Amino acid sequence: MRKPKLRELKEAVLAVLRGPYTTKFPFEPHEPPEGFRGKPEFQADDCIGCRACAMVCPAIAIKVVDDLEADPPTRTLTVHYDKCIFCGQCELNCTTNDGVKSGIRLTKKYDLAGLDRSQFREPIEHELVVCQGCGEVIGARKHLIWVAEKLGSKAYANPTLIVTADGGMSLAESFATGVPEPLARNEMMRVLCPACRRTVVVRELWGE
Ligand code: SF4
Ligand code: SF4
Repeated sequence: MRKPKLRELKEAVLAVLRGPYTTKFPFEPHEPPEGFRGKPEFQADDCIGCRACAMVCPAIAIKVVDDLEADPPTRTLTVHYDKCIFCGQCELNCTTNDGVKSGIRLTKKYDLAGLDRSQFREPIEHELVVCQGCGEVIGARKHLIWVAEKLGSKAYANPTLIVTADGGMSLAESFATGVPEPLARNEMMRVLCPACRRTVVVRELWGE
């Protein structure tokens, strides 16, 4: 029984001499290690507004609100980091995550305590592209342009992508007043959702 007591005494003396293992935060700043999963933040340059992060978030901490009354229509994604469990799934599954950049990143920020939950928000806003036939949301403009760039010349098979990612020719804006009913062949080169495009194609092939 004496030996263990002596060993504990030795450990106690060494601990006093070595000083504490823990950091002195909050009295001194603490630098988290690489790979630390802190506050998630959208990266404006790399986020395309596709909302894949919101779909995979297990804590439902990323809210998506589409405002079709705004001019132009907008999509706002908001991380509620008071609900976040810092799992990293949003960054891992982000559509634009290529190992170097990502539309959302978990930062090293960890000192997030506060008394007002309304301050725990991290929003990003995107312009939406809506169907010129029925007004349905097609997607964020940045997302469609990203898809068109990925497809390269294959994007020319999809009129909605061509018109949206027209390299600044503003073709989409020139049709902003909507499509007269019924949809006809000359509406082919418009921004249309899959249902309206089907209507145009079927009417072109088989008539009314
Ligand atoms: S690009 Fe990434 S961060 Fe932006 S909405 Fe899509 S999945 Fe979320
Ligand atoms: S870290 Fe996890 S819980 Fe937090 S926003 Fe991303 S997916 Fe949701």
